[in-house]
Amino acid sequence: MSETRITPGLVNAHHHLYSTVARGMPAPPEAPGSFPEILEQVWWRLDAALDLEMIRWSAQLGALQALEQGTTGIIDHHESPNAIEGSLDVIAGACAEVGVRVCCAYGITDRHGHEAAVLGLEENRRFIAAGGRGLVGVHAAFTCQDETLEAAAGLAAELGVGVHIHVAEGEIDAGAPARLSPLAGDDWVLAHCVHLQETLPGTIVHNPRSNLNNAVGYARPFRFPNRVALGSDGHGSAMLEEFRLAYAMHRSVDVTATPETAWSWLEAGRALMPETREDRVTWSYEPMDPWHLAFTPGVRPRRIEIGGDIVLDEGRPTRVDPDEVKARAAEQARRLFARL
Ligand SMILES: [Zn+2]
Repeated sequence: MSETRITPGLVNAHHHLYSTVARGMPAPPEAPGSFPEILEQVWWRLDAALDLEMIRWSAQLGALQALEQGTTGIIDHHESPNAIEGSLDVIAGACAEVGVRVCCAYGITDRHGHEAAVLGLEENRRFIAAGGRGLVGVHAAFTCQDETLEAAAGLAAELGVGVHIHVAEGEIDAGAPARLSPLAGDDWVLAHCVHLQETLPGTIVHNPRSNLNNAVGYARPFRFPNRVALGSDGHGSAMLEEFRLAYAMHRSVDVTATPETAWSWLEAGRALMPETREDRVTWSYEPMDPWHLAFTPGVRPRRIEIGGDIVLDEGRPTRVDPDEVKARAAEQARRLFARL
């Protein structure tokens, strides 16, 4: 087997596994006309309806989709205000069954009252202190009081991990940098940064497809000195496709841009989950080179080795039955839609 067909695992540096079962959900009562309305009418109604069984099968289907795209590491950001306790264990367990690596975070917020923020913080503490692979999650500065942001930063420092937070995704969160700059550190994971006008320490995660879908603008991540990684923000885990889109968007504002820049963003995700560097993905195409891949859709893994185990062989997952996972997730999607 030619070495130009093999790479380490890919990383989805910002995901929401709970949204895998959201596809096909009933339309909101009114069509959202702005980013804050998309949050209020779609995502915040959805996350409030989740229970642990829905979370489990949504995460397992999301992990399966990642595996089928050569993504061996997922940095997840989770919210389920009516099923907080134990939710991170459920996600970690679902990913482990498929064999995909996950770094969990519970996104705390004061939008359901400060008590829910405290419960969310405790879920982060409980999961990470028990040895779970995680970051302390925060939804976004604009839905948190200063006290909540300080508590999250303090817990993260105490546990020796970073904070995973949405930053300046829309104009509504443009005030975030001033409030986060006294708290943020190099181990923070900053999703989006579309409207960020200054620098904050941390890794910036660029989510090109999600930004287009929410009409929040182009983040132009090349303007920052920070490490930049790529995420899907819940739109599956087809990271080669995110790379292709990241390159096309970069090129749309700079005709001299090359695929190597977006490729470096894709590769930078591995700095957040260094264990993925040991994973071996054998692809359907060679060479696995940015100049080829930027112009080659549909490249898929044939075989994947994670932590020494073959978890995908001849394009098929070895640990779970994909048809069963899809059927169980569809059942949970029906339960979820009935609640909306
Ligand atoms: Zn997100």
